[in-house]
Amino acid sequence: MMMLTKKMIEIRGLLQTVGQSEQLNLPSIVVIGSQSSGKSSVLEAIVGHEFLPKGSNMVTRRPIELTLVNTPDARAEYGEFPALGLGKITDFSQIQRTLTDLNLAVPTEQCVTDEPIQLRIYSPNVPDLSLIDLPGYIQVVGEDQPAELKEKIAELCEKYIQPPNIILAISAADVDLANSTALRASRKVDPRGERTIGVITKMDLVDPDKGLSMLTDKKYPLRLGYVGVVCRVPQSSGVLFARGSGNIQKAVAKNENAFFGAHPLEFGPESYVDVGMKNLRKKLMYVLENTMASSLKTTSEAIQRELAETSYEFKVQYNDRPLSAESYLAESLDAFKHSFKDFCDHFGRQQVREMLKHELDQQVLTLLAQRYWNRPFDDLSQPLPEMDPLADLPKADPENPLWHLKLDASASSLTKLGIGRLATTVVASALQAHIDRLIANSTFAAHPFARKAITEASTSILRELSYDISDELEICIKPYKYRIELEDHEWAKGRENIAQVLKEEQRMCDDAFKNIENEVGGRKKLRDVMAFIDRVRSGQVQIEGSGVVGGAGGFSAALLERGRQAVFLRDRADLIKMRILAVKSKQCASKKNKYYCPEVFLDAVADKLTTTADLFLDAELLSKFYYLFPRELEARLGRNLSQAEIERFAREDPKVRRHLDVVRRKELLEHVLKEMESLRQLEAREKRYNPRA
Ligand code: GDP
Repeated sequence: MMMLTKKMIEIRGLLQTVGQSEQLNLPSIVVIGSQSSGKSSVLEAIVGHEFLPKGSNMVTRRPIELTLVNTPDARAEYGEFPALGLGKITDFSQIQRTLTDLNLAVPTEQCVTDEPIQLRIYSPNVPDLSLIDLPGYIQVVGEDQPAELKEKIAELCEKYIQPPNIILAISAADVDLANSTALRASRKVDPRGERTIGVITKMDLVDPDKGLSMLTDKKYPLRLGYVGVVCRVPQSSGVLFARGSGNIQKAVAKNENAFFGAHPLEFGPESYVDVGMKNLRKKLMYVLENTMASSLKTTSEAIQRELAETSYEFKVQYNDRPLSAESYLAESLDAFKHSFKDFCDHFGRQQVREMLKHELDQQVLTLLAQRYWNRPFDDLSQPLPEMDPLADLPKADPENPLWHLKLDASASSLTKLGIGRLATTVVASALQAHIDRLIANSTFAAHPFARKAITEASTSILRELSYDISDELEICIKPYKYRIELEDHEWAKGRENIAQVLKEEQRMCDDAFKNIENEVGGRKKLRDVMAFIDRVRSGQVQIEGSGVVGGAGGFSAALLERGRQAVFLRDRADLIKMRILAVKSKQCASKKNKYYCPEVFLDAVADKLTTTADLFLDAELLSKFYYLFPRELEARLGRNLSQAEIERFAREDPKVRRHLDVVRRKELLEHVLKEMESLRQLEAREKRYNPRA
């Protein structure tokens, strides 16, 4: 029959993992007593080790839910704090230190809290028991303790000594039983003395006949009786049983035998009183087993109710949809791979080409601005340069080496730009940005761990690939660095494209100009300051310094700055307008006139470069990335994750965590209920065969 307690203790442990509710209260033995009544000594004698916090100051501030698990075949004794995940602790002084720390973590103002510390002890020397140690009752509040401490402890104890719990009321023999706080508290909730065991400690401190009279107390008779003990660890065994080392059970037994053996009349077999830790242990096991057995039915019913509630929640909130951390991860990963596949299908050579061409268009515009449309524009006090190179452009003389040099230098700047690195970086960054977008739109968005894993997967592959690819691409475009031949159709295409690019650029200049107009507060104001700047630039007006600090001509420095930007934009737009006309003119229709039309020439070169780069990047970067990335995902989020990591991942999302909790709670309650049913059957059978048990 001893299996029942063990099983019920297991069930209790299981229920604790899903947050035991008030209704699911499996019976436990609650230990109460005044400070210094010997409560810790009794518990330590049961466990066989010193492990409870000691000290003159009250240190038990939280209930300790102590689960003792008998491990008959094991030799090692160890403790575990399931909530802390510290693993097996074989050194009992470390358990003691941990308990002290946990207690001291409760702020002094709060005095005590009813949040229990769970501690399990596994040993071949302990019975299967579930005990709850509570803070000791105090008589007088210490100077450094809050005034309400006494009441708070009493309230906490009262909460725990409710049915179906068994009360282990500890009183010291050297204090009158009428003054025992433990018995008084117990009497309040168990007036008929049906579920209280009285323990009288320090029997060695009073005359044997006085001790005997306490054990047969008639004022508060207990159905489960009183047990007298002497459980101070003998000092002589101090060396042998130093803190946390050996088991103290034998030393206590020896001491008790010596004392009770010396008084056979009072405590011998004929006296019919219970004495000694051995008897107390037996009694506790017997009483707990019986209480557990009689609570089987009510507990089963409570679990059934809890299960019904959980099943209802599962149905209503989650539509009975099963979920496990593994299935959630697998589904999320599948969906993500799917969206990636979709992206692969839509992001190919054409998209790379558009991106690269746009990038090179911008580079061409910059080059043109530097070499052809150049106007220094830093200092208001500087007059305009004598020559406007743009004005000369239509008059460009193909015979003049200067014009050859200008165009060759521009083309060379373009081909030697480091296209390999630039193009690879542009495409790799675009891929990374797309991956980031896919993550943001996936279930992984709510999972920092997975987000990081995916980002790392893509960045590491892209980094690795980019390194070689940019060098190889640079080699591919090398021929263009020496010689560029254009076909007529390439020229025509370049002419068409650059006209579009210039138009777009003009539109952007106009937009930016309008923005400034709005910012300074009106066209008139901007026109005034621009006119002033023009006068300065043409030398009609002199100003001191650059006008950047302090302003000039009645305009503030800030307004002058905006004016200067506006003048720049106006001039640039004018210039671009002229160049659009030039590009569209007959002169630029033929590639023979390339010196008149550097824009068309450079655009055609950029187009050639793009064609080489997009072909190469499509083959080398895109297809390799598309092949490697799903495999890397699988490696990082698929097969290599441990069960704990998968669980941690899934629980990162609060919605998923709640869903998983409900599923888990339901499964667990079903499991527990099944166990309970088999226990009930076992018990019924036992009763049939052995009706007196
Ligand atoms: P607690 O405050 O109720 O936990 O009490 P302790 O277990 O710490 O015991 C208080 C003091 O009483 C300690 O100094 C113990 O050594 C001593 N003590 C405990 N049990 C006995 C006993 O049976 N006999 C004697 N003589 N002293 C005891």
